[in-house]
Amino acid sequence: MVLERGEVANSWRRERWNSLRLLTPNWQTRLPGYRYEGADPDGFMTSAEVVEFVSGFAVATAAPVRTQTTVTSVRPTDDGYHIVTDTGDLHCRCLVLASGACNLPSVPAFRQAVPASIDCLTPMDYRAPDQLREGGVLVVGASATGVQLAEEIHRSCRPVTLAVGEHVRLPRTYRGRDVLWWMDASGVWDERYDEIDDLNRARRLPSPQLVGTPERTTLDLNALAAAGVELVGRWAAVRDGKALFSGGLRNQFALADLKMNRLLDTFDAWASENGRAADIEPPERFDPTGVPVSSRLDLDLTSGEIRSIVWATGFRPDYSWLDVPVLDRKGALRHDGGVVDAPGLYAIGLPVLRRRKSSFIHGAEDDARDLIEHLAGYLAANSRPATGQCHVGEKRA
Ligand SMILES: Cc1cc2nc3c(=O)[nH]c(=O)nc-3n(C[C@H](O)[C@H](O)[C@H](O)COP(=O)(O)OP(=O)(O)OC[C@H]3O[C@@H](n4cnc5c(N)ncnc54)[C@H](O)[C@@H]3O)c2cc1C
Repeated sequence: MVLERGEVANSWRRERWNSLRLLTPNWQTRLPGYRYEGADPDGFMTSAEVVEFVSGFAVATAAPVRTQTTVTSVRPTDDGYHIVTDTGDLHCRCLVLASGACNLPSVPAFRQAVPASIDCLTPMDYRAPDQLREGGVLVVGASATGVQLAEEIHRSCRPVTLAVGEHVRLPRTYRGRDVLWWMDASGVWDERYDEIDDLNRARRLPSPQLVGTPERTTLDLNALAAAGVELVGRWAAVRDGKALFSGGLRNQFALADLKMNRLLDTFDAWASENGRAADIEPPERFDPTGVPVSSRLDLDLTSGEIRSIVWATGFRPDYSWLDVPVLDRKGALRHDGGVVDAPGLYAIGLPVLRRRKSSFIHGAEDDARDLIEHLAGYLAANSRPATGQCHVGEKRA
């Protein structure tokens, strides 16, 4: 049984801004036995199209989804888990946490010190620029969400300042192919969690600076700066009504450029080793990220220059309903490739759960196959009259 607090594809119905499109191309948008069949394989789905796609999968697989059912508590029992929902209680022997990696916005604690005269939004509240007051906007965070929102808000003729911390720079296309084609073909996205040197770091890596547009636009910091977005360093603190930014912009840029070039080297090596160099365009390299002549180290939040702040500082899962001792000090789930540190408990859809692609839509299939094998083995080894498996959070079925 699959329990879902809203409707099928709830996060794509309720938690995304209006203009958002997937940054993964249509040909890559696939679920087990189900893929995009439309006329634009190189395009990028709107949120509404993602809803249609996931809903189509639920119908095609006749997934046993119980919608409008919120799980409010999960407790271990002698032979499984006791589930409390707002539509009644359930018992199951195995439980898969498929409740998502991005339930809540992650916002730094110093937001409490932001003057009340400034409107603060997270990507979960933001829908479109006309929701913002006229005047300056500070976008915090330059990963996929931050660069997309900075660009859109800047186009609405509001002055935008973008606070840039650690980020992952990628060109939209490389040697004539989508950069995510390269991630797929070269095997980078299939790299397994137990082959990655610093797994904790890989799991904390920000999303890449990518946007899915019909024009296949590259949306990096050079593009934003050329359009007129002001770049400042990582927002580190608020003191006396002033936002204080780190002075390490040059280093952040250099690091992101270096890592991008290393990844492009990996792609080139794969193309040569696999005899693909001839049917793909020649290697290319991109301009380094331009460092502003001088970047502000502080910004007076009481001057009226900034009217709104958009915290594009990431997301985190919500396990407030999970009464099982499986969270670490920082609230992260303790698991080994999705096998959670409690009998019969599994997780799916978290960053680098079993592979680099795990938190993307197309990453579900391989992870689900591995985890189902483990789960079936667990049930067989602990056989009792079956009472079923229960998935909290619906979409991955
Ligand atoms: C802004 C943004 C852009 C993204 N862009 C892409 C992209 O371009 N390509 C891509 O592949 N991936 C993208 N992702 C990641 C994307 O969200 C996932 O690939 C996909 O939605 C994950 O599906 P999921 O089912 O694991 O989690 P979710 O989509 O989060 O689904 C979890 C479900 O669990 C339900 N739920 C949670 N708690 C409870 C509870 N207590 N009781 C009952 N139900 C509950 C929620 O209502 C939700 O429907 C993006 C994510 C975000 C936030």
